[in-house]
Amino acid sequence: MIVEARMSPDAGREVGQPVSTLFDTDPKAALKHHFGFDAFRPLQADIVDDVLAGRDVFALLPTGGGKSLCFQLPAVMRPGLTVVVSPLIALMKDQVDALTAAGIPATFLNSTLDANEARRRLRTLHEGGYRLLYLAPERLALPHVYRDLEAWNVTRFAIDEAHCISEWGHDFRPDYRRLAELRRAFPSVPVLALTATATTRVREDIVESLQLRDPRRYVASFNRPNLSYRVVEKQNALKQLLAFGRTRRKESGIIYAASRRQVETLAEKLREAGIAALPYHAGLDPSERSYNQERFVRDDVPVICATVAFGMGINKSNVRYVVHFDLPKNLESYYQETGRAGRDGLPAECVLFYGSNDTAKLLGFIEEKEADERERARDALRVMQHYAEGTECRRAMLLEYFGERLAPGDCTGCDNCFAPRARFDGTVAAQKFLSNVVRVRQASGFSVGLNHLVDVLTGRETEKVRGWNHDALTTYGIGKGTARPEWIAIGRELTRLGLLRQTPGLRSVVELTESGRKTLLERRTVELTAAAVVERDRTSGADDGGSGDGGPGDEELFDDLRALRKRIADQRDVPAYVIFPDTTLRAMARDVPASLAELRSIPGVGDKKLADYGEAFLSAIASRATRENAEENA
Ligand code: ADP
Ligand code: ZN
Repeated sequence: MIVEARMSPDAGREVGQPVSTLFDTDPKAALKHHFGFDAFRPLQADIVDDVLAGRDVFALLPTGGGKSLCFQLPAVMRPGLTVVVSPLIALMKDQVDALTAAGIPATFLNSTLDANEARRRLRTLHEGGYRLLYLAPERLALPHVYRDLEAWNVTRFAIDEAHCISEWGHDFRPDYRRLAELRRAFPSVPVLALTATATTRVREDIVESLQLRDPRRYVASFNRPNLSYRVVEKQNALKQLLAFGRTRRKESGIIYAASRRQVETLAEKLREAGIAALPYHAGLDPSERSYNQERFVRDDVPVICATVAFGMGINKSNVRYVVHFDLPKNLESYYQETGRAGRDGLPAECVLFYGSNDTAKLLGFIEEKEADERERARDALRVMQHYAEGTECRRAMLLEYFGERLAPGDCTGCDNCFAPRARFDGTVAAQKFLSNVVRVRQASGFSVGLNHLVDVLTGRETEKVRGWNHDALTTYGIGKGTARPEWIAIGRELTRLGLLRQTPGLRSVVELTESGRKTLLERRTVELTAAAVVERDRTSGADDGGSGDGGPGDEELFDDLRALRKRIADQRDVPAYVIFPDTTLRAMARDVPASLAELRSIPGVGDKKLADYGEAFLSAIASRATRENAEENA
């Protein structure tokens, strides 16, 4: 057989007989052998060392940072059972599938299993047949559970999504409170707590609740260099979205919208435009919902339109863009939701569609909340609004929220850094706007909202304008030459600059500040930013931001490999990335390995997968080469 002839003697040895001592003592060798990776991600190596040494560890890594590996690698390097507590039942199966594909014996127990299957797994656990066991927290309430864990020789606990234990967090789950018992029941078993989201307060709460003993703490940077950020000003939002989708037809993306109806409409419009998209929201029948999710995860459809109900526990690594069609309610949600893009480390885009009406709509919802929640919600919205309207680096704004500073010039892609909006001398516009605020106030004795101010400036004849006689003001209509949305933007920018102040609350009005008064009286120069450009050409600025070691490679070969991966994945009934992530296929298409030894040097190809799929992928690569030769000679 061709493949065998190509195989080097070295590769043959590695496939057949793993050198078990090396893989048990050298984390780097174990990393390549089991997972096919050549290098650790930041902090992984240190965390793994501490876990191997039996220390308690607290690790805060952003989504995509590679948390799972921190307990999976030690679990295969040391005897005994690692118990992973996770609230995400949907994710357990995927993780176990991925481990199984890598040749690591793992299983999960949760409420989705039928009695026979659960018994079978319990038996194997008693026989010591697994290295990892995933458990939902509520399992810890069952009788005998501690006795069982004892009998299974548990040597490590990994608590995933550890922030769920804290009532201060945004995702508190009462079931997680039970984890406090673990330390009492198993005083000598080390605990590793992992999370992607935690403020200082939540961090302390986690360490205390789990009673971690002198834990080593790791806090990774929240920066995701391969993600680019930009804001698109809504003009004809639907048209803009379709234009965006059309230029990324083959790519996988998530489009978030605020309401179920909106989600349905967008999915339909995208389909009409020839972009396969499915809806996902809490109003769908559960079976349809999980079917749609499954089709998206398995790359059957590229796009999912969803409410924020979607995403927790989605472990799809090749999401190339996340679009927010409506404004998220706070910056932390925005960070988490955009974090689902580019987990494979290749460049991905985060695009926020923004219209100034979005803020007003959210303010409306906030008014319906309890009084004590309202102020916090308004503050959160103000931060979000600042992100959307601000002219400074978006990445820096996001990181600042997590208490991290980005050094100037370190941004790897955002619209404000890479396609900065032009600035212009806006003194005249500012004078018009500010004096209008003063005139309205003098004439009426009260202040008004932004919309009405702009109505007066642009000389509109509304009921209010007539009712309050504002058409008699000297500023009425002095801004006719400039479009309404632009005046709104100018009003907002003057607010950001501190020349105007917007009062809090639903009936928010605009007032002049001391600094605005001085600017007006002393005719100070005011610099303003030109309105943002709408959908830019893909090849410009921000899109080139990410570094990406993948490179395009041979597109046709990549498509072949993708098709092969899909066939294997469907046969085995697992998502495609469980077989190989996109990064691995990209590297294959670029390096065109011709032997098992060469294939093993591709990132993501471990020894088990080399043995299982190596030949299939090599022959796909070989047959593409044969076809191309034939075409050239024809
Ligand atoms: P998290 O749980 O922190 O969001 P995951 O554990 O799901 O992240 O890992 C994200 C992706 O990164 C997965 O596809 C995983 O296989 C991959 N990954 C993890 N560690 C490495 C590494 N050292 N080298 C290359 N890829 C890695
Ligand atoms: Zn930037």
